[in-house]
Amino acid sequence: MPTLPRLSWRLVGAAALAVALPFAATACGGGGSGDKLVIGTKFDQPGLGLKNPDGTMSGFDVDVAKYVAKELGYPEDKIEWKESPSSQRENLIQNGQVKYIVATYSITDSRKEKVDFAGPYLVTGQSLLVRADNSDITGAESLQNNKKLCSVSGSTPAQRIKDKYPGVQLQQYDTYSACVEALKNGAIDAVTTDEVILAGYAAQSPGAFKIVGQPFSEERYGIGLKKGDKELCTKITDAVKKMEADGSWKAAFDKNLGPAGITAPAPPALDGC
Ligand code: GLU
Repeated sequence: MPTLPRLSWRLVGAAALAVALPFAATACGGGGSGDKLVIGTKFDQPGLGLKNPDGTMSGFDVDVAKYVAKELGYPEDKIEWKESPSSQRENLIQNGQVKYIVATYSITDSRKEKVDFAGPYLVTGQSLLVRADNSDITGAESLQNNKKLCSVSGSTPAQRIKDKYPGVQLQQYDTYSACVEALKNGAIDAVTTDEVILAGYAAQSPGAFKIVGQPFSEERYGIGLKKGDKELCTKITDAVKKMEADGSWKAAFDKNLGPAGITAPAPPALDGC
């Protein structure tokens, strides 16, 4: 090796650099690989966060995420979307795999021990979805009557059922779309999660499902980000405030959730960071 001419050493150096660089780009991205901003959302929740068959993303959460990205200086073509199932959201943020998450993500005290939230940007509540022809499920109490209920691991609605209705047969899946599929084919009797999510599925299959009872919790959606990143939290909060003030928030709500029959409420006031 010591007899290698100078040029060869340069080549070896260049090759080593070429190998090292992709790792460097990933490692220092902090949720951004290269010049991209990585945002976490759901891929299977119509009206909120949905990856369409053609690969495009749509939904209210997606529009909020895009608006915030634009305010942070990232146009749409610089966004990389990362699917963020309910049970993995804190991990994805803590590991730096995403810069922030907009994914029907309720602000709770236990989650706040691991991540920070900007928000709330939407307030909804837990409800129940059943098949359209069902008549004996009228609310959470009626589920204790040997009914099979589906929800998602790591979600607040699943936890609330375990805490408040321990007699209910709860089955926890990874995604709400899997629950809705099981509801459709009769494997389970009801799905529980936030009303806006259920309304999105109901609208997707007209005549197949209905929402029953009144919402029985308050879910305040926040944008999850790394704990302690006050600067990012403030920037995101300012972006959402601007989105609410300039009419984009209402426009996004009407476009994405209007077809599901939900009228836009007044946009919520955001907490400080
Ligand atoms: N908002 C609830 C939660 O954060 C339910 C919806 C979801 O699982 O994304 O757990």
